[in-house]
Parts: sequence; C-alpha cells; structure tokens
Amino acid sequence: MKVVDHIKKAAGKTLFSFEILPPLKGQNIQSIFDHIDPLMEFEPPFIDVTYHREEYVYKELPSGLLQKKVVRKRPGTVGICAAIQNKYEVDAVPHILCGGFTKEDTENFLIDLDFLGIDNVLALRGDAVKNETYFSAEKEGHTYAKHLVKQIVGLNKGEYLDEELLNKSKTNFCIGVAGYPEKHMEAPSLDQDLLRLKGKVDAGACYVVTQMFFDNKKYFEFVDKCRKAGITVPIIPGLKPLATKKQLSILPHRFHVDLPDELTLEVLKCKTTAEVRKVGIEWCIQQSKELIEGGAPVLHYYSMGKSDNIQKIVSALF
Ligand SMILES: Cc1cc2nc3c(=O)[nH]c(=O)nc-3n(C[C@H](O)[C@H](O)[C@H](O)COP(=O)(O)OP(=O)(O)OC[C@H]3O[C@@H](n4cnc5c(N)ncnc54)[C@H](O)[C@@H]3O)c2cc1C
Repeated sequence: MKVVDHIKKAAGKTLFSFEILPPLKGQNIQSIFDHIDPLMEFEPPFIDVTYHREEYVYKELPSGLLQKKVVRKRPGTVGICAAIQNKYEVDAVPHILCGGFTKEDTENFLIDLDFLGIDNVLALRGDAVKNETYFSAEKEGHTYAKHLVKQIVGLNKGEYLDEELLNKSKTNFCIGVAGYPEKHMEAPSLDQDLLRLKGKVDAGACYVVTQMFFDNKKYFEFVDKCRKAGITVPIIPGLKPLATKKQLSILPHRFHVDLPDELTLEVLKCKTTAEVRKVGIEWCIQQSKELIEGGAPVLHYYSMGKSDNIQKIVSALF
C-alpha cells in the first residue's frame, strides 16, 4: 500500500514510522530484525531503509603507492525491504539515489522493486562521495532528485529507456522526497530551496519527509511556507532523539541543523551517556506530542541502528 494511502486511511490520526540502516557488510539480517521487533507493537504502517552508495578507500601498498578501492559498507537495501515486507507484512520504503546510479541502473533497480511488490520509494540525490566536496552525478545519471522523480513517474506511465521495448508494463510507485526545514546546506536561501522542493512535487512526488530538526517552530514555519508556495502534499516530520554529547557538534556539522540552547544546556549538564539519552528521549517526547497536536500526518524517527530509545518515545505516545 502507498504511504499516502496509509495517511488517507488514518483520517487525521498521526501515524508512527521509522528509518533503519542496512547493517555493515559482514553482519547478518538478524541484527535488523532484533532492531525492528520491539517497535512492531506500535504498528508502523511503513519502514524506510536507507541506501548507502560506494565509498573510495585508499590502501597503502608495500611499494608505498596508494591503491584506490571502491567499497560499499552497507549494501542490502533491496533485500532488507523484501525481507521486511515478507516477515512483518508492513510496507518497506527503499531509498533510491541519483549518486552512483546511471539511468539504466535506476530503471533496473526500480524493476526489481516492482517485482518484489514494493509500492513506495524515497527519491534522493545523495551526498558527495566521502573525501569529495561536491556531489557529482554519473555520466549517464541524474544531477538532482527532481530528475530521478521524473524517471520514476515515467516508468509509472510505462516509459522505459529503450523505447522499442514490447509489452511495456507500468509500475505504480508512490514517490517521497526530502525537505529541509533549516535549508539544504548547498541552497543559497530557504526560499530557493523551497522552489526546488516545489519542483520535485510538481514533477510527481506525493509526499515529503523532512530532515531532522530539534525545534518544532522550524517545522511548523516550513509547512506554512510550503503551503504558501503551493506544496500541498503531506509533509512528514523526521525526528531524531539525541543520544550522545558528541552529537551536539556532529549533528549540526553533518546535517546542518541547529540545536536549541535549552536542549544543549541540559545535555551539557549530564555526567553519563545514559543521562544524555534520557534528556534526548524526553526532548523527543515533548517534540512528538506537540507535532501530534499540530496535526503532523506521521512521526518518522531516524533510529540510526538503536531501537531502545525510539521504543521509550513511542510507548509514551502511541
Ligand atoms: C528524509 C531523508 C532521507 C535521506 N536518506 C538518504 C539515504 O538513504 N542515503 C543517502 O545517501 N542520503 C540520504 N539523505 C541525504 C540526501 O541525499 C542529501 O541531503 C543530499 O545532499 C540532497 O538530497 P536531495 O534529494 O534533497 O537533493 P535535491 O532535491 O536534488 O537538492 C540538492 C540541492 O540542490 C539544489 N537544487 C535542486 N535542484 C536544483 C537545480 N535545478 N539547480 C540548482 N540547484 C538545485 C537544492 O536546493 C539542494 O540544495 C536523506 C535525507 C533526508 C532528508
């Protein structure tokens, strides 16, 4: 079932969903099930699975020369999605990137998803490869998420890259895209970024999931601006409970988000990581309550491989 149909069916009730990362190469899928199992009692209608593109690592050879190697540390997005749908009978939402994909790779990826009965995708550009400053697309790939959305919409109409194909069956994907209440780091202004978001929705995206934020005002203002700009699709807030003191600098650096002083000061007072986690959980519960009151369609949690804090949060809410 499509994410937007889950939202329609809920008729105004806020739903719960979360995002998981494929395990590091070498680990088995049980680690993912152990992570999902405790959250199933809260009946998520869908679970997102992130996509991790290749990275370049440099290995020193005995000669002293450096050898460039391409590695994918977290493969398995499609397999995990299939396993989730099979085991839990909930919809899995694979993330799909422009980065590292040619249009042909994208088409083949989508065909696999369609054959597996996956109805939703979150279409993203992806970041620059580690060690590089700027994102660069594959020669035959997409530069912006909007173009990826267009290709998926095309496939939904039966438009394949090879126009001479016979028996062109249509896919039926519901497409989500990313939105940034505090602006995407590369956008010259929030207004410009909103125009780009509108471009993705006009191209056929059915819903938006936001980057994490720690101050609800940012989300509510963002939704307001989106509505004024003519973006009418559901805007799902993305939430992350703060879990370590280090994240006070890691999260702003990595995700370009601000942390409210009140939260920062509470975290700085903590003597142990357990205390920080407690503060993070309490903050996230308050944020979630306010978002439910404010009519958020879904609360979407970035679990980042840990479910115990998400479990504590949702058990206070759902
Ligand atoms: C909910 C969510 C889930 C994510 N999941 C993943 C994941 O699984 N794997 C992963 O690698 N990354 C993931 N990311 C990170 C994401 O890939 C990065 O934030 C990336 O830098 C931007 O992706 P996008 O789809 O928003 O890009 P785009 O919408 O393409 O925008 C990228 C930048 O280009 C600008 N722009 C857009 N169109 C144009 C244009 N025509 N001309 C000039 N500028 C333009 C935008 O304003 C923005 O600054 C996720 C992010 C979010 C919010």
